[in-house]
Amino acid sequence: MKEIASSWVEISKRSLHNNLESFRSILRPHSVLTAILKSNAYGHSIETMAKLCIEAGVSRIGVNSIEEAILIREIDSKITVLIMGEIQNPEKQKDALADPNFWIVFSRPETAKTLSSLNPSPKLHLKVDTGMGRLGSHGQALKDALTELKEAGIALDGICTHFASTEDVLEHKYSLMQIQKFEEAVSHAQSFGYKNLIRHTCASASTMLFSHAHYEMVRIGISLYGLWPSMQTRLSLNLTGNKNFQLSPVLSWKTRIAHIQNHPADSYIGYGSTFQTSYPTKVAVVPVGYYEGLDRKLSSNGDMLVHGKRARIIGRICMNMTMLDVTHIPGADVGSVVTIIGQDGEESVTADDVADRTHTINYEITTRISESIPRIVVD
Ligand SMILES: *Cc1c(COP(=O)(O)O)cnc(C)c1O
Repeated sequence: MKEIASSWVEISKRSLHNNLESFRSILRPHSVLTAILKSNAYGHSIETMAKLCIEAGVSRIGVNSIEEAILIREIDSKITVLIMGEIQNPEKQKDALADPNFWIVFSRPETAKTLSSLNPSPKLHLKVDTGMGRLGSHGQALKDALTELKEAGIALDGICTHFASTEDVLEHKYSLMQIQKFEEAVSHAQSFGYKNLIRHTCASASTMLFSHAHYEMVRIGISLYGLWPSMQTRLSLNLTGNKNFQLSPVLSWKTRIAHIQNHPADSYIGYGSTFQTSYPTKVAVVPVGYYEGLDRKLSSNGDMLVHGKRARIIGRICMNMTMLDVTHIPGADVGSVVTIIGQDGEESVTADDVADRTHTINYEITTRISESIPRIVVD
């Protein structure tokens, strides 16, 4: 596949194992790691990552949608799958949802009623809004939901919430307030007779920062893939003294030079003639553009790696092609491997580098890599 694909993504098994080990070393003893594989496993391929995670001993997988849960079910007939996005039209998906090892997060009692009537019925996890302002409910609406669930005789297995801003700040007042509110919600549920619920609140950043909020499980997404949720998280973690925690990026994205041209000084390169050479320039064309997931904001604003050296992106990123200045890279030729994201010798281009240049977050960089590009497992 590598031979015919115009670009390919390499998935490092070793990095995944390293990241899982890092989390296992900080998890509270009774807290279970759930690997979050939504959105094509953040661009890493949901099938590939599911198989690797299961092989590595992961016992729970988290996804956003029922479609993703079905993909996981095709790979493993029994593994626990947490579905975190709100189920729409549960009535219409009864067959797929009737699975005792689906753990479904719900916000609406109507959804819970439909799901609990299935045979076999999936497990139900009540979502509490503690400050994210998205799914779940809070205050009186939460009490009303509990009343309705209890009156309908619906069994709950879990209760959960999601942090709003652990990643974005160095001080964690807001998150600590959310933990407090979550504790109150758990007590409320208890007073309705819902005891021994599986409690879960933490994504990657909060798992690193708040060990008292690990409860019975944590939901690890971005850092499973070896990426930091944010610079703030990285700094906060150093401040709290946990320096042994290592993450290493799982994904590399590579291609090969498709064409080379030598242009004299003062030549224009690409659409809009936005780039003009200032010296005789050897230009390489690579077969990857914004369709493949390379952000157009990288136009004349970024590097790729060729033979261990940085090659500047020149001119506008096209739909399926990009031009590089390889003037000072001896041996750069048609067929040379080009690293779009990853390491080549001493040099690297990280998802964070690309995110900084395009004013977004690393999450968006990897999730945007087109699903049509092959993912290949490497050691
Ligand atoms: C995506 C998601 C996670 C994982 O978040 P990361 O920051 O990628 O670790 C956890 N919980 C919920 C509800 C999510 O939607």
